[in-house]
Amino acid sequence: MSQTITLIPGDGVGPEIADVVQQCVAALDVDIEWDIQHAGAAVIEKESTPLPDRVLDSIKKNKIALKGPVETPVGKGFRSVNVRLRQDLDLYACVRPCKYYDGVKSRITDPESIDLIIVRENTEDLYAGIEFMDSCGEEAPFLKFLKEQKGIELGCDTGISIKPISISGSERIVTFAFEYAKKHGRKKVTAIDKANIMKYSDGLFMRAAEAVSRRYPDFIYEHKLVDNMCMQLVQYPEKYDVLVLPNLYGDIISDLAAGIIGGLGVAPGANVGYDYAVFEATHGSAPDIAGQNKVNPSGILLSTVLMFKYMGLSDAAERLERSIAAVIREGKHVTADLKKADSPHAPVGTREMGNAVVEKINSF
Ligand code: NAD
Repeated sequence: MSQTITLIPGDGVGPEIADVVQQCVAALDVDIEWDIQHAGAAVIEKESTPLPDRVLDSIKKNKIALKGPVETPVGKGFRSVNVRLRQDLDLYACVRPCKYYDGVKSRITDPESIDLIIVRENTEDLYAGIEFMDSCGEEAPFLKFLKEQKGIELGCDTGISIKPISISGSERIVTFAFEYAKKHGRKKVTAIDKANIMKYSDGLFMRAAEAVSRRYPDFIYEHKLVDNMCMQLVQYPEKYDVLVLPNLYGDIISDLAAGIIGGLGVAPGANVGYDYAVFEATHGSAPDIAGQNKVNPSGILLSTVLMFKYMGLSDAAERLERSIAAVIREGKHVTADLKKADSPHAPVGTREMGNAVVEKINSF
């Protein structure tokens, strides 16, 4: 029976990569229909919101979505569509595999040894959106509370973001990480935080992780501080397997890990909850190259591989991943970001790289 998937092309380079996905999925001959829903900066003027209800309704109906990047204004403007989607659909786990594909440029000497799974908590922490921007205006009672109840005096020029981390939220993300490890034959789970400094939020995450780890005695469990982990990942990435982190550190470490396997262009992601799942590449809307046929479509294609696996379409997942890997390995039809300095071939555009993946799909 045909399955309908919500497809959100998104902003910037989003429509270009969404076109490539549709072309590749058609070549795979899987029984999928797309329910195309536009969101992001592109719809604000017409619909007065970057995330109209029709988009959420479509995902709630179809249960699964594939999403292009959506712009978020920095330090001002509307609230992130991504954060709202994750919170409204309770997509509490963000899974980002970081695996090296032969042919990708990497600064690491033996990148083929890297095969990480990053599990990031997606709904809590400093991303919960609890912020006070006008401390001496409407929020004055909050400053008064801090002064009177806690003896903390903050000036009017102080912005405040609150970092909520709960035992239940921490336990469910760490349980997700161990269950993922069990299902995918992984051996080790590393919980990461800054519990030495933030004892009541990160400390709570650490204690919850330790408690959950005791239910999984067959796995190696370890705890690391996030600053140390940044160095470890650059120096010894091969030592790590499944990483589980609160929201903010997860976001940052995901980009770091994408960097060591060769960049954002090849990093896929999944946002998963109990009822819904939204798949998307790790990269953003790349406004500097939008509309120029320059964006590398591998991130969204590898996210489609994750989506197929989630849907139980393992043959389609395997064929698509093999096709992308072959195009990257051969290096003849790849975008500029993947081009090695000594390559005899000129870089190609997004469409041409997509065509090369389709050709591989047809040949496998
Ligand atoms: P970005 O990922 O869009 O771009 C960073 C750099 O990497 C740019 O130079 C870009 O050209 C390059 N790049 C990114 N993806 C590429 C690809 N697939 N192929 C080739 N080059 C690629 O990050 P940014 O500039 O920090 O963010 C731009 C916008 O995207 C912001 O509004 C941000 O909020 C948004 N964003 C959205 C998501 C999402 O929707 N999931 C994620 C990250 C950023």
